[in-house]
Amino acid sequence: MLLPALAAPPAKVALRFPDHELTYAELAARAREVACGLVGRRRVAVWARPDVRTCVAVVGALLAGVPVVPLNPKLGERELAHILSDSAPDLVIDDALPGGSPVDLPEPDGEAPALVVYTSGTTGPPKGVVLPRRALAANLDALAAAWEWTADDVVVHGLPLFHVHGLVVGVLGPLRRGGTAHHLGAFGVAAAAEALDTVGTMLFGVPTMYHRIAGAPEHAASFAKARLLVSGSAPLPAALHERIEASTGQRVVERYGMTETLMITSVRASGDRRPGTVGPPLDGVEVRVVGDEPGEVEVRGPNLFLEYLNRPDATREAFADGWFRTGDLAVVEPDGYLRIVGRRATDLIKSGGYKIGAGEVENALLEHPGVAEVAVTGEPDDDLGERVVAWVVASGARPAEEELADHVARLLTPHKRPRVVRFLEALPRNDMGKVLKRELR
Ligand code: ATP
Ligand code: MG
Repeated sequence: MLLPALAAPPAKVALRFPDHELTYAELAARAREVACGLVGRRRVAVWARPDVRTCVAVVGALLAGVPVVPLNPKLGERELAHILSDSAPDLVIDDALPGGSPVDLPEPDGEAPALVVYTSGTTGPPKGVVLPRRALAANLDALAAAWEWTADDVVVHGLPLFHVHGLVVGVLGPLRRGGTAHHLGAFGVAAAAEALDTVGTMLFGVPTMYHRIAGAPEHAASFAKARLLVSGSAPLPAALHERIEASTGQRVVERYGMTETLMITSVRASGDRRPGTVGPPLDGVEVRVVGDEPGEVEVRGPNLFLEYLNRPDATREAFADGWFRTGDLAVVEPDGYLRIVGRRATDLIKSGGYKIGAGEVENALLEHPGVAEVAVTGEPDDDLGERVVAWVVASGARPAEEELADHVARLLTPHKRPRVVRFLEALPRNDMGKVLKRELR
C-alpha cells in the first residue's frame, strides 16, 4: 500500500497550508470521494497550485489507481499545449474536485503508473516521466532511513507541487510516514522560520531559498532549531553551505535526484556533511560513475521510472544495459560520497586537452567576496578547443576579470581559470532556481 496511514486514519494533521489543514481522517474521506469519481479513467491532469485541493486530487487519483499529471499553473500557452497533447488526460482537474458514490477501490500493482511528471526543461523541452508506484514507495522508504524520518516529523516547505521535489518528497513523503506536511503556500524566510519555531522539524528547500535564509541573520535562531535542513534540485554552492553553518550552526544535508530516478544519493542524518557533496547512494540504489572522472552518473534500482511518455527513442537512449544514464557528471570520493560537478550536455568543458567540470570552477568563484552568483560555460576557442567563460553577478563593485581568473588559478589549477568574464544583473533561472545555461549561450 502506497499510503498506509490513510487506511486507519487518526485525528492527526496530515496536511497544513496557510489557509487550511486536514487531518488524516478528513484527507482519507475527501480523497476517497475523489477516487470514486475517478475510477476507470485513463489519466488525469491536475492544476498543481500549492493548496489542499491539489493534494486531495493527487491522493484521490492514487487511491483510484489513475495516473496523475501535475500541471505548473504558470505554464505558458505553448508549454501547456505541448503537455496536454502529449499526456492526453481524459480529465483536467481545476477548482472543482470530482466525486462519486462509494465504490470498491482497486489496489494497483507496483508497476502501475502513479504519476507523469514533466522534467524541469533545463536542457531541452520537458519530457513526461512515467513513475510507477513501487518507485515512489521504495524511494520514500530509502529517504526515511537516510533522514531517520518518522511520523513525528513535520516537514516544512514552500516548493511547487508539479515537480517530484515538492510533490513526492514534500507531500507524499510525510503522508507515507504518517507525519505532517506543512506547506507555506509560497516560500518566505519569515514564514519558514515561524513554522520551524512552532511545529516544524525538517525544512526542504532549493539553493535559492537557502540563499535567502543566509541573507536573513535575524531568523537564524529559528533555522538552528530544525532537526534537518535539506537541500536539493540544484547544486548548493559550498560557500553557501558555509554561510548557513556560520549563521545557524546547522550543516545543510544535501541530496541529489531527478524526475526519472527520484532521489539517488543523500547525506545521512547521522553522516558527515561536507560542503559540495551530495552523500552516498540511498539504500537499494546502485550508482556507478563511468569513464574518466568527472564521469557520467548511471543509476539502477527500484526508484527508476518506467519510460518517457510517447518517447520510446528517448527512453531507449537513456539506458545502457539496464543502467539509467543521468547526464550528470560526478567524482566519487574515497568514502563513496558523490560530488556533482555539472551536466554532460552543458558543464563538461574540454579545454586545452583537459576535462573541466563547470561546477568546480563555479564553487571556486563563489569563494571570492566580489561574486554573488555565477555560472560557468564553455565556448569554442581556436587554440583551446573550448575556453572557460564565467557569467558573474557581482556583489557590489565589479571585481577585475584578472583578479577572478587568478583566484581560480590559485585555488584550483591554472588551466581551469576563466578566459572570459561577463557580468550580468541576474542569472536566468527557472522556477526551481536552476540556472538556464542554454539561455546564456
Ligand atoms: P531537463 O531534464 O528537462 O533538462 P532537469 O534535468 O533540470 O530538466 P529535473 O529532473 O527536475 O529536470 O532535475 C534533475 C537535475 O537536477 C539532475 O539531473 C541534476 O542535474 C540536478 N540536481 C538535482 N539535485 C542536485 C544536487 N543536489 N546537486 C546538483 N545538481 C542537482
Ligand atoms: Mg533532466
